[in-house]
Amino acid sequence: LAGTFTALRLVQQGVPCVLVHQPQPHDASAVAAGLFNVATGQRAALTWQAQLLLDELYAFFDALLFAPLRPHLHAMPIYRPFATVHLCNEWSARSAQPDVGQLVSVSTAPWRPEAVANPLGGLTVHRCGWLNVPAFLQAAHALLRRSGLCTMIETRLDYLAIDTRTQTVHLQGATQTYAHIVFAEGVGVNQNPLRPFRPLQPLKGELLVVQLDGMEPLDRIVVGGVYVLPRADGTYIVGSTYEKHFTDTAPSAAARAHLLQRLQKLLPAARIRVADHLSGVRPTTPDRRPIIGAHPAVPGLWFFNGLGTKGVLQSPYLSRIVVYNLVGKSTYQPAETSLLRACLQPSA
Ligand SMILES: Cc1cc2nc3c(=O)[nH]c(=O)nc-3n(C[C@H](O)[C@H](O)[C@H](O)COP(=O)(O)OP(=O)(O)OC[C@H]3O[C@@H](n4cnc5c(N)ncnc54)[C@H](O)[C@@H]3O)c2cc1C
Repeated sequence: LAGTFTALRLVQQGVPCVLVHQPQPHDASAVAAGLFNVATGQRAALTWQAQLLLDELYAFFDALLFAPLRPHLHAMPIYRPFATVHLCNEWSARSAQPDVGQLVSVSTAPWRPEAVANPLGGLTVHRCGWLNVPAFLQAAHALLRRSGLCTMIETRLDYLAIDTRTQTVHLQGATQTYAHIVFAEGVGVNQNPLRPFRPLQPLKGELLVVQLDGMEPLDRIVVGGVYVLPRADGTYIVGSTYEKHFTDTAPSAAARAHLLQRLQKLLPAARIRVADHLSGVRPTTPDRRPIIGAHPAVPGLWFFNGLGTKGVLQSPYLSRIVVYNLVGKSTYQPAETSLLRACLQPSA
């Protein structure tokens, strides 16, 4: 996502670029469910820069140039059953605040109780939904090719082929000069010898694609222990797991059992049939903030990473910040995303 959004933003600015990528089956972007939601976590706290990130996401997809990408963005409310009376009371109070009230609404009556376990009612989050990430990436790459400004090269970038002194890179038998290289390799950045910050923390995630029989279809995303995301073809994405310690990146029986158990608890009447099971590795940072910025010592090198669990929500805004810096339109960078911040500094 990070690399593709950056290339799209460059093309939007009329700047030529080369997108070097080597897709792998367990890339985070290859499996992401694509949810964007500003009320996340067990307590459904509002995300960092919630309103701004949402505004930028919708503005990106409203741009005329990106109209072919719009069909892959699906606005859909998220419903979160209240787990406790305390949470219900807390949200009732918070939703009275104008900035929160325009994003969420509270109901103390159960919604679709024949299908969904929500005896205390729940929180509906508005202005959220999901991006069909694989379809979006495919359409984005087609758009980039058509633009005449972006060359796509499917290969692994060999870091040793970069000469930072002459600002040249040897790619597929030719040496090219560069003004900037933006490294957006997800967890692959941990292999990058030019990385000036601590290794990222890989966070494995797994999800299931299921069919749900014995109940009427859901018309909103339901989040409670797992998320259940209805797709146009009648299947649902159910996710996700969050594993810091893992020995391989493949789907596991334990994660499948965990997701199924939680799904059944949330939708007790459903008869579940599993159609697919996917896994990937998210690039995360200790403080859960993304990373954007220039290398402190090597001219021309940039990093865009650490999207964690929120690649869809954060990429439109952050890619604009990166590209505005590259083209000299702005020097603004949010302090929270600096690659020089304390938690990213290599220990002495
Ligand atoms: C199970 C799961 C569910 C998720 N669900 C959601 C969700 O609902 N909503 C959401 O917003 N986010 C979700 N995420 C997180 C989201 O996937 C990530 O935030 C986002 O995809 C990260 O994008 P990225 O471009 O930084 O990294 P990646 O997707 O890892 O992409 C990096 C790319 O760089 C390539 N690369 C690396 N090194 C090199 C090299 N040397 N040369 C060439 N190419 C290279 C990699 O192969 C890869 O293609 C989920 C993740 C997982 C695993």
